Amino acid sequence: MTNRVPLMAGNWKMNLDHLEANHLVQGLAMALQDDNHDYTACEVLVLPPFTDIRTVQTIVDADDLDIKYGAQDVSVHDNGAYTGEVSASMLTKLGCTYVVVGHSERREYHGESDALVGAKARKTLDTGMIPIMCCGEALEVRRAGTHVEFVLGQIRAALKGWSAGDVARIVIAYEPIWAIGTGETATAADAQEVCSAIREALRIDYGDTTADAVRILYGGSAKPGNIKELMAQADVDGALVGGASLKADSFAAMANFYA
Ligand code: PEP
Repeated sequence: MTNRVPLMAGNWKMNLDHLEANHLVQGLAMALQDDNHDYTACEVLVLPPFTDIRTVQTIVDADDLDIKYGAQDVSVHDNGAYTGEVSASMLTKLGCTYVVVGHSERREYHGESDALVGAKARKTLDTGMIPIMCCGEALEVRRAGTHVEFVLGQIRAALKGWSAGDVARIVIAYEPIWAIGTGETATAADAQEVCSAIREALRIDYGDTTADAVRILYGGSAKPGNIKELMAQADVDGALVGGASLKADSFAAMANFYA
């Protein structure tokens, strides 16, 4: 057996200004405390917009919270004439420990390719943070029944040339696009089918140690009502949560899935 620590990651997307971020993180810390949350049983991570990160850092540091925080994207460049971009070292200076790369919304609205997603994951890891690399199929692919092949193709293209040791340090988030923000959740069996196929592909490509170390999250309308069943699946190690992470009580309840 393995000792992968479950991860509950809240992707706020483009929601909440820094004042609202302050309110949510304080509320989340209180709700987790009320639930007697055991951070060794489930790591808790928030992924606010860039403009909120300094505020979140201030609260986490001041109150010595165990809540972790990170960013929703990162530049592949170190510095220079890249208007609008934010570098990995700027994020580490703010205490970020995770970065989401290749979310389907970035792939769709910003044309991010698998190669770019892989480069962002590489930059994140090389700068001392953990990439949460997203993958997932659109509804047409799911209907055609080629979703497993499609998702493995995305991952293999992004991680081309990576060593087993580096792959072992990343987090992968399987997020079927048709389930994101739609209220349409994949069943626990759907999530397990793809998450286990991802782990088996990692086993073939990089060996047992890597396959058993990588945490694989499910994302797509995960909420308090379905988190227990999702987390009961052998290859689901956590969730990337959008909508339900914007309310302190619901996100804390999800992190407390093990209780
Ligand atoms: C997401 O933003 O990655 C996500 C899964 O959103 P939601 O939980 O709202 O479907």
